[in-house]
Amino acid sequence: MADGSVVARAPLRSAEVDAVVVGAGFGGLYMLYKLREQGFSVQGFEAGDDVGGTWYWNRYPGARCDIPSLFYSYKWSDELQRDWKWTEKYAAQPEIHAYARHVADRFDLRPMIAFETRVLSATFDETADRWSVVTDRGDEVSCRWLIMATGCLSTPRAPAIPGVNSFAVTTYHTGAWPHEGVDFTGQRVGVIGTGSSGIQSIPIIAEQAKRVTVFQRTANFSVPARNGPLTERDLALFWKGYDDYMALVKGPGMGFGGNPANAPPETPEARQARYEELWALGGAGFLAVWGNLLTSLEVNDEAATFVRAKIAEMVKDPAVAEILAPRDHPIGTKRICVDTGYYETFNRPNVELVNLRATPIEEITPAGVRTSIAAYPFDALVFATGFDAMTGALRAIDIRGVGGVELRDAWAAGPRAYLGLAIAGFPNMFVITGPGSPSVLSNMINSIEQHVEWIIRCLGEMRETGRSRIEADEAAQDAWVAHVAAVADKTLFPRAASWYMGANIPGKPRVFMPYIGAGYRRKCDEVAAAGYEGFVVA
Ligand code: FAD
Ligand code: NAP
Repeated sequence: MADGSVVARAPLRSAEVDAVVVGAGFGGLYMLYKLREQGFSVQGFEAGDDVGGTWYWNRYPGARCDIPSLFYSYKWSDELQRDWKWTEKYAAQPEIHAYARHVADRFDLRPMIAFETRVLSATFDETADRWSVVTDRGDEVSCRWLIMATGCLSTPRAPAIPGVNSFAVTTYHTGAWPHEGVDFTGQRVGVIGTGSSGIQSIPIIAEQAKRVTVFQRTANFSVPARNGPLTERDLALFWKGYDDYMALVKGPGMGFGGNPANAPPETPEARQARYEELWALGGAGFLAVWGNLLTSLEVNDEAATFVRAKIAEMVKDPAVAEILAPRDHPIGTKRICVDTGYYETFNRPNVELVNLRATPIEEITPAGVRTSIAAYPFDALVFATGFDAMTGALRAIDIRGVGGVELRDAWAAGPRAYLGLAIAGFPNMFVITGPGSPSVLSNMINSIEQHVEWIIRCLGEMRETGRSRIEADEAAQDAWVAHVAAVADKTLFPRAASWYMGANIPGKPRVFMPYIGAGYRRKCDEVAAAGYEGFVVA
């Protein structure tokens, strides 16, 4: 509950359902809807006290989507899509959360979900082909199908800095922000981290606080959002192109791929004109400038140089602009940020930038932060330090498959999943937007819908044919994992120490986790049409 109390309820002991869905973000909500629609009995579990997932937890100031809201919304209900009115091009967190709540109410999904309940373990019973799911509320639920909608960015992580828990005043993490909000008025605030969460929150915190000190380890590329109210004209244009857009989304080519036909023109003037055009338009669409932006270092360098020049124009102090200019990774190989007034914030007299490459943080102390050359006292400390991405939420659960093998052990050298949907040795378990699927490199809502629709088709066909067990075949999984890596290796992505690579977590194996190839939907459909090729079905 928002007031800190926990809803009393009796544990669901020895309950038997067809399916358990873990997580009630956009993935879990749609999965619950489809399961019920297809007549499966289902139990959902959600650690938070409400639906929304990402948009429930990430309530930091400035949180908003970086894909335009008209596109970052469900496509599976035309009525919903037409009825819901986004107010801005990029809606802010409260509006996206309200949308998730609206979906839950409109489709009556809440009764299927046990809130404030964390799934602790899931154990596969090989004789019954069923999972036993145990929660922190003492529930023990048996299910045939276990669907993990636990999210790619749902395990916030504090920075690995000595003394991280010793700060005596209040510490906030952007990914677990207090529901009541935070008033920084008159405070000296330290912000560690300059990824998307830092870049969105720093301008707003700076408007409130007496003083903000930003600790930057790696400079990131950010493009202006050019956010604003959605107009009738925007809506008319959106609906005019909707069928074409949907044909693309539902088409076989879904996945990253890039458009090879979109080659840079020969003259530098023509290329600069295109950069300027996209910069003026705003948003992450900047990365679509050329089809080979993420495969040719030379092409990438030119686009990166353009953005660095823009930073130098926006930031008045050349020394500060130079620290903010990203130079250690190709543009787009870390998630590009989409900001509103980020660089200009460093022109404010109450904002200071600390370059951790030159003066690293040595420790967090009860009073604040101490770097190699100075101590910074604070009234509040914000960790915008990101997530144990893609695998964190799954590894946090004690999942045991065939032979009692733990998922954590099966993934000790990095995540392995067939199509990012299923894992060898863990029958009847599916992961929505798991590692090895386009997931975080795509519009996540589209990828969620594609996975949910594939899973429900599979479960329907299993039921129709009276089969009770489906498991990814080890050899098919190995081949898919090798393909995911081979495709990534042809791009510039592995050159960045990004969370896509697991590089943000000390000791995490460096594996490029999302699938960046083209034709992903077609591949999934072909697998299903061929009687679940690459799966062992019993
Ligand atoms: P989540 O929304 O992460 O939901 C997972 C849920 O599972 C959580 O509520 C969590 O509490 C619950 N859970 C996890 N483990 C357990 C457990 N053991 N027991 C019970 N419950 C559990 N993507 C885009 O495509 N466009 C964007 O603009 C965009 N913006 C983003 C902004 C932020 C700040 C962040 C962090 C991510 C953003 N993303 C964006 C990615 C975003 O995570 C997805 O778009 C989408 O919301 C994920 O939905 P989901 O249901 O898969 O996972
Ligand atoms: P992130 O991209 O992982 O950024 C974390 C930041 O913290 C990085 O600047 C990182 O520096 C820094 N950091 C981590 N540990 C540190 C340490 N010990 N000392 C100093 N600095 C440290 O996390 P995020 O900003 O929360 O974003 C995660 C993802 O969520 C995004 O990439 C995006 O997919 C999604 N998201 C989207 C939006 C949006 O615009 N819609 C907003 C927020 C999040 P290094 O780079 O040097 O590691």
